[in-house]
Amino acid sequence: MLLYELFNDVHFDCSMVDGAQNNCRFKMTVTVNNCKFEGTGPSKKLAKNAAAKAALASLCNISYSPMMHPQKNLPIPIDDKTASMELPQIHADKIGMLVLEKFQEVIKGQESYSRRKVLAGIVMSENMNFNEAKVISVSTGTKCVSGEHMSVNGAVLNDSHAEIVSRRCLMKFLYAQLEKHLNPATINQSIFERNPDNTQYPYKLKNGVLFHLYINTAPCGDARIFSPHENDSGVDKHPNRKARGQLRNKIESGEGTIPVKSCDGIQTWDGILQGQRLLTMSCSDKIARWNIVGIQGALLASLVEPIYLHSIVLGSLLHPEHMYRAVCGRIEKSIQGLPPPYHLNKPRLALVTSAEPRNQAKAPNFGINWTIGDTEIEVVNSLTGKTVNNQVSRLTKMNFFMKFANLLKNLPGLQQRKIIMDYGETKKAIKDYQTAKKELFDAFKREDLGNWLKKPIEQDEFCLPE
Ligand SMILES: [Zn+2]
Repeated sequence: MLLYELFNDVHFDCSMVDGAQNNCRFKMTVTVNNCKFEGTGPSKKLAKNAAAKAALASLCNISYSPMMHPQKNLPIPIDDKTASMELPQIHADKIGMLVLEKFQEVIKGQESYSRRKVLAGIVMSENMNFNEAKVISVSTGTKCVSGEHMSVNGAVLNDSHAEIVSRRCLMKFLYAQLEKHLNPATINQSIFERNPDNTQYPYKLKNGVLFHLYINTAPCGDARIFSPHENDSGVDKHPNRKARGQLRNKIESGEGTIPVKSCDGIQTWDGILQGQRLLTMSCSDKIARWNIVGIQGALLASLVEPIYLHSIVLGSLLHPEHMYRAVCGRIEKSIQGLPPPYHLNKPRLALVTSAEPRNQAKAPNFGINWTIGDTEIEVVNSLTGKTVNNQVSRLTKMNFFMKFANLLKNLPGLQQRKIIMDYGETKKAIKDYQTAKKELFDAFKREDLGNWLKKPIEQDEFCLPE
């Protein structure tokens, strides 16, 4: 209605997309003043609505994002000051579209693995120039390794939730970008540059390189503990409110999470082999962790300054208050003592205009991953943590540890850093990263939100192959 009121020349066209297992979806293209905008949805009406919203966001700066108006979902101008946490809608829609298109592209020829519940991806942009943005990773998955498949060699993927896998793809990409410095001919193509005179962080990202995480739904755990059709304005009397902000665990081979406080502290290898359930921290908690220690992981933290997500875009279930609390708000008052340049990162948040419908399909036991540069997808059995052909995944700790050792040996400017053969010892020696991680755990404790649950220590006791 608003679009028809504001413009004379409005024309809608409808087509079908992705009619496969994941609900049939309609695509509506609206032409306004010779510009085209798209929307998708489970019905023609919703697709049309999404297309109209995309047009209004782009042509009139009108946003329907829940970030702008959490309670009423009314359109208000984008330049409102309350919107400082929001990623502009047109950028969010572009990020979502790029990831979905890349998924359709890389799954070609292996359609039997297109079945999915959670889909995630990471997009890289130079500043806010999204015309040249690149998809770095695409992944699917909703499950974790079963206890009997834990590896003493760092050779299995423990957590195959899509957003966790996409972040491992990003780490693989970061290694590849540092490896470009091993060859004078490729140095200029790297997103990293030398950080002269800095012996602690000899490399850094070039100015303006930004990473954006897309997930088709709210991450499991704290960001997803609400009912989408109730608003909790005013006093919340619900007894479950005590659960807000709590650290939570994924349950072995299941979906959903439970608060860590209902588990007992330390996980042991022998206990798990005997049948104790293997627990993994929820995706909400891991994202909060990335907002303190960065997304590059412990090993790379000894070569580059911490790298943070610029924004997180959801395909559905974005509740601004819950999402903000989950990814950074719950520790913003209690975090302290971070060694610079570590800090609490507050990513921008957004919901795509063409939201994904609730998907009641049963989650498959496999997940796929693809990183820019890969010629094909890898399909991982989430319960064994190995590929469906029983091979070691390209995203394992062991693989990254070998890449890291190679960089330490050959990367220019490292002043002969010592290579420690033991993985756990190597990580322990990266002091500022360990301090930042400890401050993160302490911040959760100070807020009485529970203790971060670690995997059995034996998980990290493996060495580089001779
Ligand atoms: Zn998850």
